[in-house]
Amino acid sequence: MKMKNKKWNDYLWIATVLYFILGLFNIMFAWLGMICFMVPLILTFMGKGKLYCNSYCGRSQLFNILGERKKLSKKRPTPEFLAGKAFRYGFLIFFMTMFFNMVFNTYLVFEGSRNLREVITILWTFKFAWNAPEIVGVSPWIVQFAFGFYSMMLTSAIIGITTMHFYKPRTWCTFCPIGTMTQEINKVMHKKAYNALLDSRQSDEKIA
Ligand code: SF4
Repeated sequence: MKMKNKKWNDYLWIATVLYFILGLFNIMFAWLGMICFMVPLILTFMGKGKLYCNSYCGRSQLFNILGERKKLSKKRPTPEFLAGKAFRYGFLIFFMTMFFNMVFNTYLVFEGSRNLREVITILWTFKFAWNAPEIVGVSPWIVQFAFGFYSMMLTSAIIGITTMHFYKPRTWCTFCPIGTMTQEINKVMHKKAYNALLDSRQSDEKIA
């Protein structure tokens, strides 16, 4: 059987695994997760559509590897409600609310009305005290954001791995907030491009 030539971006799943491991040793590595948050949005705004999802998402690669190669997925069909609009948009709103709540907590630490909380919160509920090594010379709000962001990344990975196990490997992608946002931005951009094309055609017809 002919092997597909692997490209560098086929190994981005390693970065995903490293991200979680490094975060356990130094919470400041959590900031690197902003790359996975910002790059898909920037690429979509640049008109690259779902390029990130299709080629550069280490997380979906990891789900595929665990589910397909390691056979950890039961591969049941994804329940319809998970892929439905109501759940996707509802989850996006919930996720972003939690994100802004985390940013607000960071702000409270920044302005000094709250102390740094060295806690990892899983599934927005279960709190684990984390005695991180002292980080010298870094403002507490920067560390607070790292704890909050690592908690979000870990929570979404746990949900993704759980759905990978019970359903198809990339079930998380059907309601991933980043995927939903890029899809919506893409739709708006295509609509704009379509309308612009229509306008230019109509003005061409008038001139003709
Ligand atoms: S939907 Fe989310 S997890 Fe899936 S490929 Fe896109 S960014 Fe990655």
